[in-house]
Amino acid sequence: MKDFELVIWLEIHVRINSETKLFCNCKNAVELASEPNVNACSVCMWFPGMLPVLNKEAVRKWALAGLAMKCSVNNISKFDRKSYFYPDLPMGYQITQLYEPIVSNWKVKIIDDGEIKEFGIHHMHLENDAGKLIHAWWKTLCDYNRAGSPLMEIVTEPDFRSKAEVMEFVRELQKMMRAVGVSNADMEKGQMRCDVNISIRKPWEDVLNNRVELKNLNSPSAIWRAIDNEFKRQVKIVSEGGIVDQETRWWDDEKGMSKPQRSKEDAMDYRYFPDPDLLPLEITDEEVAEIAKDLVELPIEKRIKYLEEYKLQEDDARLLTTDRDLSLYFEKLLELTNDAKKSCSYITTILMALMKESEDDIKITDLKFDIEQLARVIELVNKDELSSTNSKDVVEALFKKWGKADEIIDQRGLRQTNDTGALEQIVDEVIANYTEQVEDYKSGNERVFGFLVGQCMKASKGQWNPKIFNEMLKNKLD
Ligand SMILES: [Zn+2]
Repeated sequence: MKDFELVIWLEIHVRINSETKLFCNCKNAVELASEPNVNACSVCMWFPGMLPVLNKEAVRKWALAGLAMKCSVNNISKFDRKSYFYPDLPMGYQITQLYEPIVSNWKVKIIDDGEIKEFGIHHMHLENDAGKLIHAWWKTLCDYNRAGSPLMEIVTEPDFRSKAEVMEFVRELQKMMRAVGVSNADMEKGQMRCDVNISIRKPWEDVLNNRVELKNLNSPSAIWRAIDNEFKRQVKIVSEGGIVDQETRWWDDEKGMSKPQRSKEDAMDYRYFPDPDLLPLEITDEEVAEIAKDLVELPIEKRIKYLEEYKLQEDDARLLTTDRDLSLYFEKLLELTNDAKKSCSYITTILMALMKESEDDIKITDLKFDIEQLARVIELVNKDELSSTNSKDVVEALFKKWGKADEIIDQRGLRQTNDTGALEQIVDEVIANYTEQVEDYKSGNERVFGFLVGQCMKASKGQWNPKIFNEMLKNKLD
């Protein structure tokens, strides 16, 4: 296996969540509709004489997705017909963009195993989706709810060398689409589909061997398993002196194997030609600038900032940026505390555990206590007025009963006093009472020091700060 490397590029379809379909006023079935053929009209059923009218909202979202990925939005793009004869598309062709797509040439960043990597995007174009066919053994049922829904097709460069890179890229893309509100990109709901083109080569070779396009990868785990399976299949063929057929293969996730679907067509077979029903789409620089106002900071940009600026651990940075509300909460808390590490750990280890344990599926936006109270807890811990062990109880009390951090701390007697006079008295007493241990320590037995601190804590009934006892004892004994 080590003799070969994977070369992968992706074709990813993302369903845009516009109100209506791409060329008509039918409701765009973002979620699966309850009944078949309720969202279908004479335009998307392509009755004779019907003309497509391009949906402005879909175009806007499409451009926004492009801008989010730092691509250039072309001022002029054109629509082409792709001949396609199959009952799931009544028009007999798909309206797509072959020659002049809307956006081109950009790179998407991901973090793979702690390393920031970039993957080239060849282009992204807009097209209409086909309907859904349901095959029963004696007949085929057609559901056109989906026919004419706006799809973005993102075509990458062959930059991927491992399935881990592919998975990370797909996840990052999902997060991006959600962040800019263009699509929920839920694979299980058919809002995102990913076709994977795979070939193998010897690492020192420059040529690309025949590629196989894998289809029907409906979940991240299917992508993972299918790449693995296809890599092994191709290595076996080539190792035995064979040649991999250039074809499209259908992944059967239940059986964990693929089967040939058809040999891969060339662009020629589709007989692309400019669509005479649609004028070239013009987007001016001013319009692009207007659309760009809806951009937000992307999850990957946040993650890089969390790692490099805030010095968080990779897992924490990933966790906090998966959900926009969660990252906003973290940033607000950081603003109040100026302590990235503690702001992160109080959210990821304490709050999130409480949210997980809670019965009613509480989200970060559902918290009943003010964020200022959590910031106050962190402040008191940093001032050594609250021990970090006790701070967990305070957060739990805030979570369950709300209120104010200071009140909870005083009610429960958790405030650590740093009144040096009283503390000194305790330290002196301990030194006087445990002369044997003190001598032991002075003669070099460091281990007994913890015992002395423990006695001070005991005498103070655990309310005072061990750190200060530590210092005081050291000053007096060393
Ligand atoms: Zn329609």
